[in-house]
Formats: sequence, structure tokens, C-alpha cells
Amino acid sequence: RPEGGREEPRWAGHGVVRCSRQLSPRWRELLLDVYLQCPWGAPNTTSISCSLADVMSEQLAKELQLEEENAAFPEVVAVAEGPFITGENIDTSSDLMLAQMLQMEFDREYDAQLRREEKKINGDSKVSISFENYRKVHPYDSDSSEDEVDWQDTRHDPYRADKPTTTPRKGFIGKGKDITTKHDEVVCGRKNTARMENFAPEFQVGDGIGMDLKLSNQVFNALKQHAYSEERRSARLHEKKEHSTAEKAVDPKTRLLLYKMVNAGMLETITGCISTGKESVVFHAYGGKSATEDKVIPPECAIKVFKTTLNEFKNRDKYIKDDYRFKDRFSKLNPRKIIRMWAEKEMHNLTRMQNAGIPCPQVVILKKHVLVMSFIGQDQVPAPKLKDVTLSSEDMKKAYYQILNMMQQLYKECNLVHADLSEYNMLWHDGKVWLIDVSQSVEPTHPHGLEFLFRDCRNVSQFFQKGGVAEALNERELFNAVSGLNITADNEVDFQAEIEALEKMNEDHVQNHGKKLSMFSNDGDPPIYDE
Ligand code: ADP
Ligand code: MG
Repeated sequence: RPEGGREEPRWAGHGVVRCSRQLSPRWRELLLDVYLQCPWGAPNTTSISCSLADVMSEQLAKELQLEEENAAFPEVVAVAEGPFITGENIDTSSDLMLAQMLQMEFDREYDAQLRREEKKINGDSKVSISFENYRKVHPYDSDSSEDEVDWQDTRHDPYRADKPTTTPRKGFIGKGKDITTKHDEVVCGRKNTARMENFAPEFQVGDGIGMDLKLSNQVFNALKQHAYSEERRSARLHEKKEHSTAEKAVDPKTRLLLYKMVNAGMLETITGCISTGKESVVFHAYGGKSATEDKVIPPECAIKVFKTTLNEFKNRDKYIKDDYRFKDRFSKLNPRKIIRMWAEKEMHNLTRMQNAGIPCPQVVILKKHVLVMSFIGQDQVPAPKLKDVTLSSEDMKKAYYQILNMMQQLYKECNLVHADLSEYNMLWHDGKVWLIDVSQSVEPTHPHGLEFLFRDCRNVSQFFQKGGVAEALNERELFNAVSGLNITADNEVDFQAEIEALEKMNEDHVQNHGKKLSMFSNDGDPPIYDE
């Protein structure tokens, strides 16, 4: 790769030949050929700063690759140690994998070149042309880390945006001459700008709210139409790529990821699919050998692949969309990164649960949107969901008390609310209940955390009451037992109203003091709501 002046690229003394793979003699020969036949004349060997032996040195190549990978995935490397991440011991015997990696590299370079051309042609012109359609990589497939945001810190973020104000039902605000109706041009224009947030995530709307943009109805409608047709087009393109494979949910990139895991020996074989949901696909695999001695890979693993299509992502955002403090940050992330965030969340939540001793899958490794964990079940047969097993009344009672205990632990020790707890996400294995599916779990101080907890309690309570456990608390008693709060309302409506009032109080406090009401002495402490 020549570096230096634009007109006259020079290799000698400047060029670096990087080789990050163990090359076969044939490849070395070829590469050397190319090197010697460089179009800008034979290299001045005397000025080459390192010997050919150095150039071909595997050591140097590894260092370079490591450097590059550290720059690309600083966090993931910290999370997941192993041969497969650092690039050591990568088995390069698979031509298919090498070819796919080369192709990806080529596509990225091709796109970068397109972008450069685009920039050159457009210059400062007000009218610009776009080469978007010619790009090889879907915009959101690209792994550029330019706008990488350390999402884990989001909850410590200072309060950012204001809640958007709405026009009251009556359709106007103000009095007398100062009356402002909902048809007011400015109000309407701002509202239209805000409504652009609802467009598909890949439709970049810019910071219209920040610069107080006012869109007329006509412009807004035209943009809306355009956004819809773009969304359909993008979905079509994406679908074509995805549905061309046998395993519908696994796109080429994911397949490559899985392939690498097997290739690195971390997984023995991937046997098949256990479940295909709207948001994830779960596979069974036999565990392989661990690179490090302190980490043991379970004999059987479950691989949860979070789906990366936009549609699924849109269904998931109910857990964050009302959390207006996150909105700013989320709008900056592209969908692929948000999906990775769910996978990361699941990993962190499982780790917290593991530390508290709650029966749950043990995290093996996280790589992008693919989470490998221990398999709950045996011989490729997953443990049945609680809804699918028939338990004796003795076991049913045992399961109930165990869940009550787990919910309390989850809240008090892990500082979490499951937020999707039901007989669908509890497995019965080894005579006890195991909790799974915690990517959506939130901390109790989430603006809707207590409502989620109440819903969990209702699911659990109803399941066991129907299942004939006479001791099962009703949802309100269960809620108090888990949270340690003492809400006294004796009917559901009032109870929920009190929950919402508590949440609001907490949020108001955040607005006024920039801090949650709860006092966290450490990360694991539950919140304490008081006046
Ligand atoms: P989703 O968000 O799609 O509901 P889940 O995490 O609930 O994803 O997984 C879907 C299904 O896959 C579960 O109902 C369960 O049957 C199976 N499953 C998930 N994780 C494991 C695991 N670690 N061991 C065994 N089965 C699992
Ligand atoms: Mg589930």
C-alpha cells in the first residue's frame, strides 16, 4: 500500500508490507513478486528500513494486527479473552473464511473510495450527488467506530433533553389575544420536526429540534413519504441478503462470527437451532477448549444471536423510548450498535445474577451481537419452560418460593427488575427454576422500572394462583414483598397510580437535583424511595 505524495507514490523506504496471517510458501512467492514488480519501479532496497525477513515476520504481523484490533474493539477485547479475539492461533486453513474476510475488506475500501469521490465531486456545492446506491456495504453494516458511544455510561449521564411539551386537549393555550392554537405555524412546525424522530432509524433527520427547525406540513408530508419508501427499500435490500441463506436469521456476518468461534476451537460444533423468536435466534452448540486455563467452556452451550434487522429493533425500544434522558444518545447510535447493546446488556445482567447465585445461564463469551452462554438442558434438549411442564403440587410450591426468593435477590442484590418475567422465560431444570432472557432487564430506578416490576409480579402471581399454590401472594403483596416498599392501596388501579407517582417523584428529583432519590452505596444496592 503506497504512502506519500498523491502524484508520486513511493514504496521504497515508505511502504510497509503487512502480513497478518501465516502465509503459505506459494503466497509468499506471489507477494514478493508483486512487491518487486511495483509499478513505480523497482524498490530501492538499500533504503528499506527493515529486512525482508522482518517484513515477513509473523511477530511483526501479529503486533500490527493486535494494534489494529485493539483500536477497533477496545471494550470487547477486555470482555472476551481468547485466541479468537487476539488473532493468535487463528486457523487459516479455511479458504472460505479468508475469502469472506478479504471480500469484506475490499468492500469497505471500495466504499471509502466512493465516499472520497463523492466528496471531491460535491465540494462546497449546494447541490450534491450521492453514490449511496453503489456502496457495497449496507450503511449500517459498516463497523466504523467513528461514532462509537460508550453506552454503558448512559445512566450516569447528566440530564439532557426536556420532555417535549404538548398542546392540551382543548387545542389551544394562552388567553385572549395571546391564544396559540394547535394550528399555529411555529408550534406546528416544531411539532413536525419532532415527529421526524419517528422515521425509520436509518433515515438521518439531523438535529432539527436542536436548531429549532420548523417544518411546514407540506414539507413534512413529503419527507414522510420519502422516509417510508426508503424504509421499504432498505428492508427489501436487507431481506434479499438475509433470506438468501438457509438459516434465515443468520446473515453472512453472523455466520462468519460463528464460524470463527468454531474455527478457534472454542465451540466444538453448532448442532442446530433451539428457538427463533422475533428478536433473537438461539442455537445449541457443544463447547470446545478454552484458551485460558481459568475459563472453562461448558460442555454444552446456547448461542443467542440478536437479530440485526431494523424491524425487530423497533419493537424493542419500548424499554428505552420513554426514557427521554437516553434519547439523545440513542439517536446517535446506528441500529446495529443498538442491537449489540442489547447483547451486552444481557451479558452484564447475567453476570450480576450469577454473582448473586441466582440460577441462570453462565456467560461464556460476547462477540458483537452474539452471546454464548451455558446451555440449560442436556444432550441438546433444552430444559422446558415453566409453562410447558406439569409439576407436582409439591414442586409447584417449591418453584413458587424459589421464584419469590429470586425476585427479591434480583431486586436487592442485583439491583434489577427482570421486566419480562413469566412462565415463558423460566426454565425447569435439575429440580429448580432457572431465569433466562434478561436483555431487557432494567434497574428499579428506570422511569418505568416499578411498573415493569408490577407486571412481572402479576405474571408470577397469576401463574401460581392458577397452578393451585394456595400460599401464592397476590400481585400487590408480591410487589411489596419484592421491593420492600409499602404501598397500601387495596385495589389495582390505586396501586398502579401510587407506583407511577413514586416513579414520577424520582424523575422530578432527577430533574431538580440531577440525581436519583435512591442512595447507592455501591452498584448492587436497591433504591430507597423516601420523601
Ligand atoms: P427471546 O428474547 O427470543 O425470548 P430467550 O432468551 O427467551 O430469547 O430465548 C428463547 C428460547 O431459547 C428460550 O425460551 C429457551 O427455550 C431457549 N434458550 C435460551 N437460552 C437458553 C439456554 N441458555 N439454555 C437452554 N435454552 C435456552
Ligand atoms: Mg424469551
